[in-house]
Amino acid sequence: MKEFKETISFIQDYYKTKDFIPLHEPRFRGNEKKYVMDAVNSTFVSSVGAYVDKFEEMMESISRAKKAVAVVNGTSGLQVALRLAGVSSGDEVITQALTFVATANAIAYNNAHPVFLDVDLDTMGLSPDAVENFLEEYGEIRGGACFNKRTKKKIAACMPMHTFGFPVKIDELLEICKQWKIPVVEDAAESLGSYYKDQPTGSFGKLGVFSFNGNKIVTSGGGGAIVTNNIGLGEKAKYLTTTAKKPHTYEYVHDELGYNYRMPNLNAALACAQLENLNMFIEKKRELAGKYISFFENTNIKFRQEMKGTKTNYWLMAIQLENREERDLFLQTTNEAKVMTRPIWQLMYKLPMYQDCFKDDQKNAEFLEDRIVNISSSVQ
Ligand SMILES: *Cc1c(COP(=O)(O)O)cnc(C)c1O
Repeated sequence: MKEFKETISFIQDYYKTKDFIPLHEPRFRGNEKKYVMDAVNSTFVSSVGAYVDKFEEMMESISRAKKAVAVVNGTSGLQVALRLAGVSSGDEVITQALTFVATANAIAYNNAHPVFLDVDLDTMGLSPDAVENFLEEYGEIRGGACFNKRTKKKIAACMPMHTFGFPVKIDELLEICKQWKIPVVEDAAESLGSYYKDQPTGSFGKLGVFSFNGNKIVTSGGGGAIVTNNIGLGEKAKYLTTTAKKPHTYEYVHDELGYNYRMPNLNAALACAQLENLNMFIEKKRELAGKYISFFENTNIKFRQEMKGTKTNYWLMAIQLENREERDLFLQTTNEAKVMTRPIWQLMYKLPMYQDCFKDDQKNAEFLEDRIVNISSSVQ
């Protein structure tokens, strides 16, 4: 395919190499080494330290949420955020099947059941129409909470995910969920620095969760953050993720089942340096997206662009091929040329542990699963 070859050349020219080009690489060009060495020199490398506090403050300012809590990774953050939103054993949680496995796993860790609803074609995230249709058919409000009429289980939360940094239609989702008395927890793992109508993603729901894994837009090595505008919930998040220990000079008093989900200070040091450059990373991502937009304009390949009224961090750039055969051919051609590309995730209900979960028709999710591919997204 001529277009595929041209795409490979375009990417190789941009990165000025014919060697292996990964999908997304971290870049350390600011105070990373300085802060990490400072953490080492301070001896505070572990579960408490000044960088953890600084990281939480920075995240409060970036997400514009009142409280941010550092955690060991995004998945554990999602698990705890769901518990804090009121999810308990046997409940149902609405989410999308087109997501990274951590979204569904966080639900399962709470012994709750994912309910997989379709995504929108434009955002690639949870569809407000799908949620509304599902609730109109199955939802029933009793005693201030929503129940599934068919299964009798409580629908305890709704967790949309901002795919590759593209914001979902969060205001519509919030409105529907409010009407049905369902708290929203945003899986904002991929969307740090993305905005929906001038407000940062992650700050809309009852709680939101970011990831700082090595492959995300900025990294702490491994790490995550829970954010919320409810200070009480934020304090509870800190408490639960730090073993639920009551303050005491010397006694060990733990009054409920907590977790050791703390982000080490060493990782927080790296994260602080990365966050200082978040805007630079986003600008460079958007610059690269601009180049891809002009390049793909003259091809039959559709480059996925941000929606009106949103600002995307363009964490992972995505293109849409004609069909599954084209997709497979593109994946094969590019990877053989050492230009790494990957398909979007397999839909969650196709994985063995989630194959018995409820799902709606999934027309859009299946369409996207057959066509969406991530292409080189590292900044120069
Ligand atoms: C990366 C990611 C997570 C989890 O983050 P970790 O820090 O790797 O645990 C959760 N959800 C989505 C959609 C992600 O992309």
